[in-house]
Amino acid sequence: MTRLPLFLAVVLTASSTMAAASETRHADAHEHGHGQLTIAIEGSMIEMEIEIPGADIVGFEHPPETAEQHEIFDAGKAKLSKGDALFQVTGEAGCTLKEARFLEGEDHDHDKKTEDADHDGEHMEFHVNYRFTCTDTTKISGFSFPFFKQFPNSEELDVQIVSPKGQFQFEVSPDQPALTLD
Ligand SMILES: [Zn+2]
Repeated sequence: MTRLPLFLAVVLTASSTMAAASETRHADAHEHGHGQLTIAIEGSMIEMEIEIPGADIVGFEHPPETAEQHEIFDAGKAKLSKGDALFQVTGEAGCTLKEARFLEGEDHDHDKKTEDADHDGEHMEFHVNYRFTCTDTTKISGFSFPFFKQFPNSEELDVQIVSPKGQFQFEVSPDQPALTLD
């Protein structure tokens, strides 16, 4: 956690570059199909943080209204919380998912705001933080992404890795669902 300022700096740099690059979209809009994943390796821990459009996870970006939408929403969240089924550590590092925390996309109040549900301009996102502990993070050789099989609407993840070896950037996709770290 002592590296948090650095970690945040990386995320902020990445998003401001992205915003500048896509001027056809309004400032804080995201690109459907494209998510951001930051992986920080420190000590015996891996911390991951994903920010991804609601469209990629559940296919819509408004609060769920119908019974069917609630079902889709809850199922999407349940899948998204299983971080170890989405992001797999390759190598003999012995990593176990300890926690998945929703920072955005968590609450969809069943009784609040239903008549306010037609905010067309709104782009709902999921923002989830995962914490893994490992027996030996020096044995991490890379990551693979069964994520794309679980969420076929997702076309790409921009992956930033912050590790004792340095900072690295990757793009992974359904065609290229893995990365190697050395
Ligand atoms: Zn959107």
